Amino acid sequence: MAKESSNGDQHTITRPPPTPSPLRFSKFFQVIAVDNYFTGSKDNLKKWIGHPRFELIRHDVTQPLLVEVDQIYHLACPASPIFYKYNPVKTIKTNVIGTLNMLGLAKRVGARILLTSTSEVYGDPLEHPQKEEYWGNVNPIGVRSCYDEGKRVAETLMFDYHRQHGIEIRIARIFNTYGPRMNIDDGRVVSNFIAQAIRGESLTVQAPGTQTRSFCYVSDMVDGLIRLMGGDHTGPINIGNPGEFTMMELAETVKELVDPTVQVKIVENTPDDPRQRKPDIAKAKGLLGWEPKITLREGLPLMEDDFRQRLAVPKKQNN
Ligand code: UDP
Ligand code: UDP
Repeated sequence: MAKESSNGDQHTITRPPPTPSPLRFSKFFQVIAVDNYFTGSKDNLKKWIGHPRFELIRHDVTQPLLVEVDQIYHLACPASPIFYKYNPVKTIKTNVIGTLNMLGLAKRVGARILLTSTSEVYGDPLEHPQKEEYWGNVNPIGVRSCYDEGKRVAETLMFDYHRQHGIEIRIARIFNTYGPRMNIDDGRVVSNFIAQAIRGESLTVQAPGTQTRSFCYVSDMVDGLIRLMGGDHTGPINIGNPGEFTMMELAETVKELVDPTVQVKIVENTPDDPRQRKPDIAKAKGLLGWEPKITLREGLPLMEDDFRQRLAVPKKQNN
């Protein structure tokens, strides 16, 4: 269920019912979700469990998968730096062997396959904002490489299967995404700041705090992915919100919206942190008719509500 997933490690495989064929493109898809629960959570899918057109399989895509489907949303891979660096070899395997298996599956059943690639393929970009034509500036041996280079190989595999075997491919390059139902301890910046502010802890801005990111709300992201899957363009296409913020600005915004009394502190950063990131979304606009609708100031409170519920910390009246 792409709509239910705000993290990067779930697969969504959709298949229509066998008959009648006009239903093939109707709303009556059957959905098979595949997850190894490394970062995903069954809780996020609980409203679908037991639904007659929904199946959930515990499976790791580094192993072959035999199912009959028409579309594959290949979203697998931890997307938070702390999770992907925790087991970098597994991250590479997921991107390389996992993508190979999904392409083998697509080839066997004739399915269209969409890969969620990443803005990380641009590395620490020397062009700004980033257009799809930019080849990137990536350290091949750094601590982020399992993810950056892994996704770059995944894109290569997609295009090689497309050229060699005629597989129908779609590639989205996702820029930082956030929203309700993210893992509270995901470790990425938006969930960290919101959880910290709700708990009354200092917001940890990693030095220097002038580095930028562009944050896309999850429902906009899902809308973009579905449009890309349904359209005629292979991509890669950037899907992200061009609103660009420094990490210090993000901290100040979260502080203002969630709890103006919390402190902001500067902490040490990790190696190879990209200094700037902002998508050029001209392709998504022109080819998919897509652009994000939810601004950061609109999206943050929706995430705050969900985090408060899960952390059982109600909002104070005077905030
Ligand atoms: N594969 C899979 N499900 C399928 C078909 C293939 O997981 O329904 C895997 C298969 O195990 C293989 C990979 O996809 O490791 C690539 O398959 P392909 O047919 O392209 O390559 P080959 O099996 O010829 O090496
Ligand atoms: N960051 C931060 N505080 C945190 C976590 C992250 O200031 O508690 C910074 C990090 O240094 C990076 C940016 O936020 O510059 C985005 O990091 P994140 O891990 O969310 O995703 P990335 O874009 O690096 O994959």
